[in-house]
Amino acid sequence: MTETPQQPVLSVVIPLYRESAHLSGTMKEIVDVLKSTGVSFEIVLVDDGSPDNTWDAILEQKKQYEQIQGVRLSRNFGKESALAAGLEIARGNAILVMDGDLQHPPALIPEMIQHWRDGAEVVEAVKRTRGNETRANRLRAQLFYGIFRRLTGVDLHGASDFKLMDRRVLDAWRRLCERNLFFRGMNAWLGFRRVQIPFDVAERVGGQTGWSLAQLIKLAMTAVTSFSSAPLYLMIVVASGFAFLALLLGVQTVYLKFSGHAVDGFTTVILLILILGSVVMFGLGLMGVYIARIYDEVKGRPRYVIAELVK
Ligand code: UDP
Ligand code: MG
Repeated sequence: MTETPQQPVLSVVIPLYRESAHLSGTMKEIVDVLKSTGVSFEIVLVDDGSPDNTWDAILEQKKQYEQIQGVRLSRNFGKESALAAGLEIARGNAILVMDGDLQHPPALIPEMIQHWRDGAEVVEAVKRTRGNETRANRLRAQLFYGIFRRLTGVDLHGASDFKLMDRRVLDAWRRLCERNLFFRGMNAWLGFRRVQIPFDVAERVGGQTGWSLAQLIKLAMTAVTSFSSAPLYLMIVVASGFAFLALLLGVQTVYLKFSGHAVDGFTTVILLILILGSVVMFGLGLMGVYIARIYDEVKGRPRYVIAELVK
């Protein structure tokens, strides 16, 4: 770094995974919009350990636009961690987070900045439609948000990672030092004065979505377990139900015993063992999930490792 460029008003943080093919087009569109707003800006591009030449593409863009900062993570840490890396570096008074596939329309940026100027601390773009996502995907998202809201009381329907935050919000976010990140949820948890603007999810400009089903399930598990211990309490409710049944069955057994015809209920025994066995195992598994979370947090490993940084 030769000189410290002066602090920009706006930082745009974009995590990138396998986006090299269309990066130049994406950047041009975003930079054009940013320039039209007249605010000074920087763009933090985070290469989340892409196997393709996303990093070279970032360096290429850097030559073209001096406002770009590039971060290369040492491997693929996942979008949430890549975001965290970018947010750590961002220096602006307002920080905008968006995807690198133009699914978050840059045309919305001026309006978001205006809301921020008018005093909003978080401006979130909320999905009005979800683009042409498959029906299975849509159902999955709906199911997840439904369960999430029941368990945590935080409603994330339509929430996206397309957000503009005031510096204050980012500083507060940085103080949440958990390892298991769920940006959307953490951001909602923070509160602050929020403004929502609806948007239609565009189609991906190119490439393909980087999420596998397994990653999505993992994110959903992280989201629920790091936001709610309700499942653990649920086990107590289930256990109480079984205790009640046990009481009924116990009374019946004792009654039969004293009235002379003891139970010949082998079926009952088998059923009881099967049902109770699964419930107990399920409870153990659930506790295991939470212990794994605790283990992850206690290890205190960094959320990401930066391999290279160009400013
Ligand atoms: N992304 C990332 N790391 C990953 C997967 C995705 O940084 O492991 C980035 C990706 O480059 C994009 C954003 O996260 O900028 C959203 O990803 P994607 O478009 O694949 O998700 P979708 O829009 O389908 O939810
Ligand atoms: Mg996308």
